[in-house]
Amino acid sequence: MERLGSKDEVRQAVGEARRESKRIALVPTMGALHDGHLSLVRAAHERADYVVVSVFVNPTQFAPGEDFAAYPRDLERDLDLLGAEGADLAFTPTSEAMYGGGADVTVDPGALGAVLEGATRPTHFGGVCTVVTKLLSVVGPDLAFFGEKDYQQLTVIRRMVRDLDLPVKVVGCPTVRECDGLAMSSRNAYLSRDEREAATVLYRALRSAETLALDGERDARVLEEAMCGAVEGESLAALDYVAVVDAATLAPLETLGSAPARALIAARVGSTRLIDNLALAVG
Ligand code: AMP
Repeated sequence: MERLGSKDEVRQAVGEARRESKRIALVPTMGALHDGHLSLVRAAHERADYVVVSVFVNPTQFAPGEDFAAYPRDLERDLDLLGAEGADLAFTPTSEAMYGGGADVTVDPGALGAVLEGATRPTHFGGVCTVVTKLLSVVGPDLAFFGEKDYQQLTVIRRMVRDLDLPVKVVGCPTVRECDGLAMSSRNAYLSRDEREAATVLYRALRSAETLALDGERDARVLEEAMCGAVEGESLAALDYVAVVDAATLAPLETLGSAPARALIAARVGSTRLIDNLALAVG
């Protein structure tokens, strides 16, 4: 596996792969890799011939006071994992390499970026959309892979690619979980042993909504109340939001109908903020 830190080098390496008629995939990550990330690399391998993985803790998607400085970083381990997974190129820019040319013009994530996560983290999706646009511009992939774990992010990026006519196909991949249901996340490393146990409450809450829907409950409020109740029962957890939304538009639903629906949750466990989501099938 090749490792490159400059945008020009990456353009050149990908250009060579493209001249060999290879199908190019991009998997953007912030590193501290786990099986969730690696599942995206595997999915990319199935659909492309040349897989680029970016490892970059993007400062512009963290607000002041968030965990940018503390965010887990272990580049050597990440590179070992990516090499073992057969990635072709790791793009590991510094902030200077990424933004040194100027960072005045940014991408506005629109209305989808202002709700849910965007309500708590108003600058977050602007940072995400801008860095993803830059990565797409540098790598020029045919396919870009994102996890359903960050469901709103996936939805915002699909919308950005559509609205800005970006020439890439976005592929969403299922959430990879620990045995007890906790969604894998680099931030799980922050949790103490007790908090790690309590953190399963996000999945338990989502499952309670899923079960109600499968049993025929159509009222979204009832599902949301069940999720709130689950979190209230966990003393180490504090709820940020629960929502039952249209899976394509993220619009809040009053009633589950024929359109795909999604349950979303964000909660603090100790001082760690975690998010998760689940598709709701109607029974
Ligand atoms: P991050 O490094 O947290 O920015 O995540 C990089 C990519 O991996 C994003 O597209 C995430 O949605 C995805 N991802 C993170 N955790 C998981 C998981 N548990 N399952 C599937 N994809 C994930």
